[in-house]
Amino acid sequence: MAKSKTKKSYEDKRTKGKTPEPFGGKRPIEAKPMFVIQKHEASSLHFDLRLEIGGALKSWAVPKGPSLDPREKRLAIETEDHPIAYGGFEGVIPEGQYGAGTVMIFDIGPLKNVKDASLEDQYEDGQIEVLLCGQRIKGKYALVRTGKTRDDDWLLIKMKDDAADARRNPVSVENRSVQSGRTMHEIRKAEADG
Ligand code: MN
Repeated sequence: MAKSKTKKSYEDKRTKGKTPEPFGGKRPIEAKPMFVIQKHEASSLHFDLRLEIGGALKSWAVPKGPSLDPREKRLAIETEDHPIAYGGFEGVIPEGQYGAGTVMIFDIGPLKNVKDASLEDQYEDGQIEVLLCGQRIKGKYALVRTGKTRDDDWLLIKMKDDAADARRNPVSVENRSVQSGRTMHEIRKAEADG
């Protein structure tokens, strides 16, 4: 089963005009396909990994964020597809709205398929292998659907390559937006100051 049938869509979860999140719009970067990792301080802090597959950003909430260590398996909980323009979103989702909290662009860049099968087919099979070409997160990653405690459970695993490095941990070291250079606090403050 590709997707839980009960999962609400992006539009079902949000109300235009009540959240600054995009409902469409232009690509954040020219490269196609692309990926983005957004740091999201909501009810709990997590990193949202989004891969452009089949005309949308397939999305996973990764509580600990991606690791550069191939021995680490990071839980990645699939969430609703996001529009491509969402990759350029950074800001504050207001209280009372879905995902209320601060969003920062942690990394963004081109995505490359490293298998013969299309990304759509890999997604359907629950076994995706991609090369992420970001500034902070680089190299090959595998996403594997386990469906362990719920249908939407996947694991995000760094594959062995030159970019693998167990000593580096960018998710805890890099605390500024790759796009605007702002910290989470500065993003919140800019919003509060109008
Ligand atoms: Mn999120």
